[in-house]
Amino acid sequence: MLYVTPILLALAYALVVHAFAAWRTGRELDANSTELADPALRRLTDRMARAVGIDRIRVHVYEIAPVNGLAAPDGRIFITRGFLERHRAGAVTAEELASVIAHELGHVALGHSRRRMIDFSGQNAARVAIATVLNRFLPVVGPLVANGLMTLLAARLSRADEYEADAYASALLIKAGIGTAPQKSLFRKLEALTGGGGGTPAWLMSHPRTEDRIRAIEGNETRWLGR
Ligand SMILES: [Zn+2]
Repeated sequence: MLYVTPILLALAYALVVHAFAAWRTGRELDANSTELADPALRRLTDRMARAVGIDRIRVHVYEIAPVNGLAAPDGRIFITRGFLERHRAGAVTAEELASVIAHELGHVALGHSRRRMIDFSGQNAARVAIATVLNRFLPVVGPLVANGLMTLLAARLSRADEYEADAYASALLIKAGIGTAPQKSLFRKLEALTGGGGGTPAWLMSHPRTEDRIRAIEGNETRWLGR
């Protein structure tokens, strides 16, 4: 029991920290978002809603400048004001923005957003526990090894989620009659933005390489549509 107690304490601590972070994220989103009310986008999200047999897809605008889309743990979908501004400026089409909404909807429908919170709390708890144990044998280096291991694991988990969300979005876009062209053209546009020295959009940074994603989408299309 003497050996187990610090690990249990570490686990309890990690869970409390995680619960607080999730609660704060929810509060932050509530305070800084409004429901999206863009008629052209609404027509597209309504078509996607019909394709999956639901009344409507509710999308919220998160009032921050970076270009990003996200699925909150409670299942709400957010597009940042920065992303919407690019659409208003004509740099991103309504169909391309719809493809981001379809991707985020994929994260929600496939249970990623909720599982991810569980993953993160599980990961943090595991990180602290492993570091505690390793520290007994490998002082100083132990926590570093634990951190490295968990970071690698987290990156692998999220990359797999991204490909699944892309595939969901492709299927939805095809079924809604929008097609995957905007999904692929948006990836290329966002990639081009990085070349302009404006810094990598956050939405791309957390995602796999653009060319790999486009190839995966085309692979799915060949399998599904036989072309
Ligand atoms: Zn994603």
